Amino acid sequence: MAPSRPDLDDTGLDDPDPVPDRFATPTTLSRRSPATGEIVGEYPIAGETEVGAAVERARTAATWWAALPADRRRTHLLAWKRGLARGADDLAALIRAETGKPLTDAGLEVMLAVEHLDWAARNAHRVLRPRTVRSGVLAANQRGVLGYRPLGVVGVIGPWNYPVYTPLGSVSYALAAGNAVVFKPSEYTPGVAQWLAERFVAAVGEPVLQVVTGDGGTGAALCRAGVDKIAFTGSTATAKTVMAACAETLTPLVVEAGGKDAMIVAADADVDAAAAAAVFGGMGNAGQTCAGVERVYVERPVYSAFVDAVRARAEALRPGAGDEADYGPLTMPRQADVIAGHVADALARGGRPVVGGADAVRPPYVDPVVLTDVPEDSSAVTEETFGPVLVINPVDDLDDAVRRANASTLGLAGSVFTKDTRRGAAIAARLRTGAASVNSVLGFAAIPALPFGGVGDSGFGRIHGADGLREFSRAGALTVQRFPAPLDLMRFDRSPRAVAMAWRVFRLRHAR
Ligand code: NDP
Repeated sequence: MAPSRPDLDDTGLDDPDPVPDRFATPTTLSRRSPATGEIVGEYPIAGETEVGAAVERARTAATWWAALPADRRRTHLLAWKRGLARGADDLAALIRAETGKPLTDAGLEVMLAVEHLDWAARNAHRVLRPRTVRSGVLAANQRGVLGYRPLGVVGVIGPWNYPVYTPLGSVSYALAAGNAVVFKPSEYTPGVAQWLAERFVAAVGEPVLQVVTGDGGTGAALCRAGVDKIAFTGSTATAKTVMAACAETLTPLVVEAGGKDAMIVAADADVDAAAAAAVFGGMGNAGQTCAGVERVYVERPVYSAFVDAVRARAEALRPGAGDEADYGPLTMPRQADVIAGHVADALARGGRPVVGGADAVRPPYVDPVVLTDVPEDSSAVTEETFGPVLVINPVDDLDDAVRRANASTLGLAGSVFTKDTRRGAAIAARLRTGAASVNSVLGFAAIPALPFGGVGDSGFGRIHGADGLREFSRAGALTVQRFPAPLDLMRFDRSPRAVAMAWRVFRLRHAR
């Protein structure tokens, strides 16, 4: 029941110093450090009006930006890139303050994001410039030209776990493709986003990139603000709400959602290298990585050696707030319940704790948890845990491993460890995911030319690489007649002779 409001009939109009209205919708959000709880920033909550105004400004900026020659856009983007790189220490400190992750991890994220921005800026023209295509027999008199034009204004909705790398995977490519961007960051990382936009305006001078801070309502307003595309990164559940909102106006959408990525360890793998990668991929950033490792399937001959190697490495990890910590606190406090639920379910159903267990969850920290022999239908195997929890199950052979890996509704990425890299690539190709790596985890994240995106509940559409640039472009077809067609059928006064000739050519080409 809603709390009763004692001053309901009192308008407060005559009161020279009205008491603040506890029941009014908050207009600002306070960002607290997940480690200490101390307030690290206060940001406006943008509503429909503010979001609408930002999109309006973006429209004007988009016209200016799209009309620039490609090399001028590249120069502007590279100036922004230099601003980010020069301020990388400040940016990393801000990421750390808002997410709680160690400074080294924050710095790594900035490095990767800048690498992508650089690639997008330098390659946009090459990928998107108009090109002549083969005209074919029927239209030999035409020149066919394929061109890519900017969409206009792209709304980017981002998560908090990698507050620079992840949203910039959409923002950089959308900007490089000639669009203006209105970016709504997670309410957990508004300061990072604002810093990025301030640097942009400092480098470019026009509001081609703007940030609207706020909560889920702000994101919902952006979906309904008449933008030309939404690039959403976040959970599958929110993606469905966003998709429903976009459906109202047929606003196109790219969805980068969660994962439940599997690692496959073959009997011939370098067990120690695989264990190191599994522990980093599963527990780095406190397990809050969309394409992190959550499940490991190991061929029986190396199963116990692998579990021992993972145990040794995981037991040595220490979460904490200081610089010596291997990973930080949970950024989003309510995730603690999800993690505790998955661990409890796995243990209740026969899973064995190898490292940690039910008491590992002590918010805001979660100690490393390694579980084995977990039933494949338990929530620790079927749902995204998003915590430092690894499930390791033995498999009879690699076919069994692929079958189990693909049994998930999620399909973001995966990895395969084997000394036979050719066989590893063949196994990776059988994974129902958007990305895979052989003998590394997250290998694709550092290669800007590779596209990134998921399958099934992990989303659709692609960011990064040439496909990422095209995702934020409108493909256009153009024909230019070079000379009149010898057999012109596209007119009412076409001759029966021409039609008969066309039939003959058609049959010769296709009916033999
Ligand atoms: P959420 O789905 O909770 O939120 C994502 C974004 O959507 C936030 O900015 C959020 O705002 C906003 N939002 C919430 N409600 C709405 C709404 N009704 N309309 C529009 N926008 C809304 O995800 P998290 O931020 O918790 O991020 C974690 C998830 O993101 C994990 O599932 C992870 O796997 C996934 N992820 C996927 C990646 C990929 O590339 N595939 C990369 C990184 C993360 P607010 O926070 O203010 O509520």
